[in-house]
Amino acid sequence: MSIIRLVDLLKNPENNQEVEVNGWVRTFRANRFIALNDGSTIENLQCVVDFKKTEESLLKKINTGTAVKIKGKLVESMGKGQSLEIIVEEIEIVGESDPETYPIQPKKHSFEFLREKAHLRVRTATFSSVMRIRSVLSFAIHQFFQNKGFINVHTPIITGSDAEGAGEMFRVSVLDAKKPPLEDSGEVNYKEDFFGKETNLTVSGQLEAEAYAQAMGKVYTFGPTFRAENSNTTRHLAEFWMIEPEMAFCDLNENMDLAEEFIKSTLKYILEKCPKDLEFLDKRQADEEKTKPQSMRSEMGLMEKIKFVVENDFKRVSYTEAIEILRNSKPNKKKKFDYIIEEWGADLQSEHERFLVEKHFKAPVILFDYPAKIKAFYMRMNDDQKTVRAMDILFPGIGEIVGGSQREERLDVLEKRIQELGVDAEELWWYLDLRRFGSTPHSGFGLGFERLVLFATGMSNIRDVIPFPRTPQNASF
Ligand code: ATP
Ligand code: MN
Repeated sequence: MSIIRLVDLLKNPENNQEVEVNGWVRTFRANRFIALNDGSTIENLQCVVDFKKTEESLLKKINTGTAVKIKGKLVESMGKGQSLEIIVEEIEIVGESDPETYPIQPKKHSFEFLREKAHLRVRTATFSSVMRIRSVLSFAIHQFFQNKGFINVHTPIITGSDAEGAGEMFRVSVLDAKKPPLEDSGEVNYKEDFFGKETNLTVSGQLEAEAYAQAMGKVYTFGPTFRAENSNTTRHLAEFWMIEPEMAFCDLNENMDLAEEFIKSTLKYILEKCPKDLEFLDKRQADEEKTKPQSMRSEMGLMEKIKFVVENDFKRVSYTEAIEILRNSKPNKKKKFDYIIEEWGADLQSEHERFLVEKHFKAPVILFDYPAKIKAFYMRMNDDQKTVRAMDILFPGIGEIVGGSQREERLDVLEKRIQELGVDAEELWWYLDLRRFGSTPHSGFGLGFERLVLFATGMSNIRDVIPFPRTPQNASF
């Protein structure tokens, strides 16, 4: 007989079926009832031990956290709370666990506490649900793009260009930190470093993806990105995963259409594939909401929120319209915002984004045509010479989930922007080549994977939706 995973067993149970399962003991009650979980599903399976027929010394080893292998008969349960249970015929202790020192006790632990135990927190119902949804979302993302004929490109993790991330990159170096080789000027001589130049971890695969889009048409990257920004928020990680499609012969409107369809399709997929995990997280979130004051509670439950996004159009609003809305808004007039919006050109803070999404439109919002001076050099200049073809998608409870644009395809305009913004043009010689040889109007965007997982799971801190978070002052595990 071979081991059957609980998720498969519970899908197709047969009464009186002889089964063999393995997993970890969540609880052991009354020297008789094991709640077993193997990580394949949110559901525990009750395994009933006959303590009269089992040795005392073995019973003592069945504790929360113990790894076991169980043979027995699957039957309809007599007890409340579950429909099926296994009558244990044979139990093998595979790995013991000391109940005194095992950190994951069968009680509510705070997420802060569990972050310190990130190697064990996935043994809890909440974290295993989150990580299963993360996995299904990842699959849905590849499926979405593959079905549309996009080519998956692995862009480099180590990059020699700092065009995009000036100041917020992690240096990659093999030089002796205590005694680096110096130039006459006293500066570190990176010519003696591994790559013969300064290198960093990538902040985005976009520029390289553009090169591939200009030959393969539609491509996407899905890989880790790194930002050494010291933003200690519930929305930022120093290491996160980003999905970046890039399309040749594609303008901003088509880009927005794709981004909206993409997000909806992945969320729809988890509604279909993860109902039990979502139900559990929905209830968890509802319980958490109850601990908040009435005015802070969110109006929708988790599943309701996901369905709302899947079923409704995102609101498309230009930056200029958004500024007018914000300027005339109550919190702006009453000076409730930390940053008062006074004139066109202001960068939007997350309080403004949240106002637009949560209070004004009460729906996801796509903001487009931002002032050129607050956006990157590669975004396409509009005819007004003031705004660029940028778009950000803002989500309730999350803020920015997507940042994208139509890229500047005109060599002369791009060169002018590079100069104006003081970007190092030498490093970008190859990027400019893409405008020299067969340039096309093209577009793309970046979606932060963890922000999507955050939305899909109803968790409130981005540290709780990635297995081992990297944040300022924290790279344990
Ligand atoms: P923010 O204003 O929230 O810092 P950004 O403007 O720096 O975002 P982009 O450079 O446009 O973001 O990156 C694209 C996407 O990557 C964002 O829309 C967001 O979903 C995600 N993202 C950006 N920075 C982080 C981070 N530090 N941790 C997790 N996700 C991030
Ligand atoms: Mn940022």
